[in-house]
Order: sequence, then structure tokens, then C-alpha cells
Amino acid sequence: MIYMKYFIKTFGCQMNTSDSERIAAFLEQQGFSLAEKNKDADLAIFNTCGIKQTAENRAYSMINNLRKENKDVKIIMTGCLANRADVQKRMKKSVDLFTEIKNFQTSFEKLSLCHPELVSGSSGTYKSGEMLKQVQHDTGYLSIIPKHTNNFQAYVPIMTGCNNFCSYCVVPHARGREISRPADEVIDEVKSLIKKGYKNVILLGQNVNSYASQVHKVRKVHQVHQENSDTIYFPELLKKINSITGKFWISYVSSHPKDMSDELIEVTAQCKKVCEWIHLPLQAGNDEVLRKMNRRYTHDHYLKLIQKIRSEFKKHKPGIPFSISSDIIVG
Ligand code: SF4
Repeated sequence: MIYMKYFIKTFGCQMNTSDSERIAAFLEQQGFSLAEKNKDADLAIFNTCGIKQTAENRAYSMINNLRKENKDVKIIMTGCLANRADVQKRMKKSVDLFTEIKNFQTSFEKLSLCHPELVSGSSGTYKSGEMLKQVQHDTGYLSIIPKHTNNFQAYVPIMTGCNNFCSYCVVPHARGREISRPADEVIDEVKSLIKKGYKNVILLGQNVNSYASQVHKVRKVHQVHQENSDTIYFPELLKKINSITGKFWISYVSSHPKDMSDELIEVTAQCKKVCEWIHLPLQAGNDEVLRKMNRRYTHDHYLKLIQKIRSEFKKHKPGIPFSISSDIIVG
């Protein structure tokens, strides 16, 4: 039996929105089309968020209601809740498949919903044109060319996961450790967006300023091939994207204050195409609370970063207004 209609319900942050754009592209590559009404769908994807209890509760009630209304619909839960044992126990009667986003393609095949002419075997090889290039890294799903939700602004994920384990946050458990996309793949994606006329490129990651991508190089020295690898960090990636020809602007979220280097602040202020905006989550202004949150910086460090950001923008873009935004947990 071939299931042909799908819908995706996305909760939470820009990263989930971006992931859903890739899921949509993948499903349409498999022969699915978007259901006009959710009740007509053969397949429902819930891309969940575990940051707020309200978002969590809404996901549970939407899934349970859908299951009551439609016994035949296949339901997949992905995103931040999908990996939690308590959630799986609670929702196992309503959900057909729980999968981490990075395993979406291979897990999806287990549901046997794919059109047999479009999927070859169980190894995750798909029709050419679907992926930006042959995937050789753990962020494989990020290589899917996404189905963007508008033609002006595009999210471009550059890394996923987090190594920080802030005490209040589920992300390291839900998405695993940090993995950065290869720089050339990110650059190819941005170039292709600019060719299509996109103007606003938003680089995404749980912690963009710890981006680090290995570049394998072969050099010929005195007729001998020598192999080594260099690491590209976020400031260099930003400079490379800034140098792409075209009229567009770049921004990035989210940054961790402990990884916000002077070099990154300087590059942000110097690059003409990078917006005069830095989002730097503070979370708390009290050092003891920051320690309990496992944030690994002090309020004094944060204030010094703000001073540095102000002075670099004033130096490199005099007279141009800039903004600094933040997140603070208040209860
Ligand atoms: S740095 Fe951000 S994503 Fe990582 S654990 Fe802390 S709050 Fe969560």
C-alpha cells in the first residue's frame, strides 16, 4: 500500500523549522504530497520541542486526538521529545515510530511507506538530485535540499547537537553531541540560495560559535603527496560566506557566551554582509545561578563581551545602528 498525503506539525525553535523543511523535501521525494487538511493525511509528523511544558502538552494532546479520529494514520514523533524513554512509554499507543531527526531517513523506511520505485534498498540511497552531494558524515539529513517555506529568507543549519549540558536543557540528550557540517557543503547551499534570489540567510545551530569542520587536504611537496587536515572555525566560515558574490545579508543564531571569541565579534563587525545584530543568551545575571545552570561564564564575562561588541560595531560600522538581543530565564 502506498501512502500519499502527509502533514508536519512543528513545535519550538528555528532549528526544528529548518529540520521540518528537510523532512518535507524528503517525503515529497518519496512520492508524498502535502495534505490539504490534516484529517486527510496518511502520514503525520510531529517535530517536537521539550523546552516548554506547554509545547510538550500540546504535542501529546494533538497526537492522541489525531489517533482517536484516525486509526489508520501513521504517526511519527521526532525532535526533542522523541528520544525520551518516559515520552515513548506514555505515547507508544498513539505513535508508530519515534526517531531522532538525524536518523529520520533510515527510520522512515521501517514503516514501509516508501514508494518502491523511489527507494533503493535499506541503505538510505536515494534518487540523484535529492541530496546536495554524496553524504559521508553524521549530519547526513542536513544535506537534503529543503523545501523552503518562503522565497526570501532561508535557514541554513551549519551544525547540530550540543556538548554543553546546561542543567535545564534537553538538547544534548535529544540531539546528541555537536557535529558540524562540512564547510564546502554549507557554502554550496548558500550559493545555490543566492542564485535563486534569496536575500536573508540565517545560519543555524544550537551553538554556532563552536562550529568546527575538518577539511581534508592533499598537498604535493617535492613530488610527494602529503595528506593532512585543517579545521575551519566559525569566524572563517562566516568570512567565506560573506565573500560569496551577490546582494544578500547573513545572520546567525544561537551563540554561547563562553564560546564568543574576540575574533568572531571582530569578523561579525567587519563583514559587510553580516547583520549588525548579535543574539547572546544571558539566561541569568547572578553568578551562583549561572553556576547551577552549568553555563560556565560569569556576569562579568558577559558584560565584557557586550562592551567588545559595542566597540567593534562602532569601529567598523560607525553611524550604523546595531542590536544585541538575549534570552533570560525568569522562572
Ligand atoms: S548551550 Fe544551548 S542547546 Fe546547549 S545545553 Fe545549553 S541551552 Fe541547551
